[in-house]
Amino acid sequence: MQPTSEAIPVRTLPSGHVLTVRSFRFSGCSVEAPRVYIQAGVHGTEVQGTAVVAQLLAELSNLPQDSILGEIVLVPNANPHGLNSKSGEHTVGPFDPATGLNWNRAYSDLSSLEPPKGSSVSAYKTLLVNRLEEMWSKKSASCSAMQRHAFSLQRMAQRADIVLDLHTSARGNRYVYGPAYAQTAMAQLNVTDFITLSGRCDGALDEAISCPWIRHRARLGSDSEMPFGLTLELGDQEQIDLEEAKRDAQGILSLLRLNGVLTGPPQPLFQSFHVASDQNFHPVYAPSGGLFQFEVQPGSSVRAGDRMGTLLRLDGAHPQLEPVHAPKAGRVLTQYPSAICHQGVELYKILGPCEVLSFVVESPLK
Ligand SMILES: [Zn+2]
Repeated sequence: MQPTSEAIPVRTLPSGHVLTVRSFRFSGCSVEAPRVYIQAGVHGTEVQGTAVVAQLLAELSNLPQDSILGEIVLVPNANPHGLNSKSGEHTVGPFDPATGLNWNRAYSDLSSLEPPKGSSVSAYKTLLVNRLEEMWSKKSASCSAMQRHAFSLQRMAQRADIVLDLHTSARGNRYVYGPAYAQTAMAQLNVTDFITLSGRCDGALDEAISCPWIRHRARLGSDSEMPFGLTLELGDQEQIDLEEAKRDAQGILSLLRLNGVLTGPPQPLFQSFHVASDQNFHPVYAPSGGLFQFEVQPGSSVRAGDRMGTLLRLDGAHPQLEPVHAPKAGRVLTQYPSAICHQGVELYKILGPCEVLSFVVESPLK
């Protein structure tokens, strides 16, 4: 089945060119099936997700029409401005070079909107969609370029039941952020670590989509019907790996089968995952400016006090070496991408303590 395609305007540039984001839509053949929105590349440098969406486009285009039950909207590059912004060999990345603001902190938190008593999941979803449209109609004439861009993307995401925002770390492991009630879906993805959203929204897309449901979950009944937003972190920035993108895409297709968006069984799973809340992050900060040798790789587990690397300090009478240690035990998820460190930069991000969750999903075809 071939998708339809649309170019959505997000910004008029000083030169008069209109910057657009291209979306691809596969219309599902069942109105009952969940709707899906998947975007990649909002942080400019984080391009593996774009390779994954390209793979999804190829795979879905090869499926017969009656095997796609729910509507699927794909945006391979959600931020052309971020992708094009180079300074020498370096891509500017997660921050708008004009304002310094993070591209993934401008989505609207709608969780103050209470579901009416006895409200169904679908009725509350309609309320959220309508609230976002009201906000857009009031603000669109006068808002920042970043808010306008985020609105354009969130309007597509808000209509979906399953939202995936594909990112990478500067350097990092493969892991996923999402609400605890979506862990069975998260287990389908090509990752080893889950970070469960606490319900606090700092303007990231996964939080903007999930937080109303986390906050009002007790009043809305069935976990299995509740929409969710995930942020999927796919390794290192500035690189694509097309073989890995096939594995990432297979995980996403399996999630869509598990949730009844595509026909067919999900992949069999016999895997354990490290799980912790987004309140359990422990940064390792550079104690001084200097040059840092990284001695632990993302994906490792460390104990409190383990040596993480060595800082070559240039601020004394002579260059000197200073070891840096883990403040807490946990999983090393990310690493700073450069040996050249200002005082206080985040050298590593450790997640812990983690629970170990095991999932077993046997294929019905076995
Ligand atoms: Zn990112």
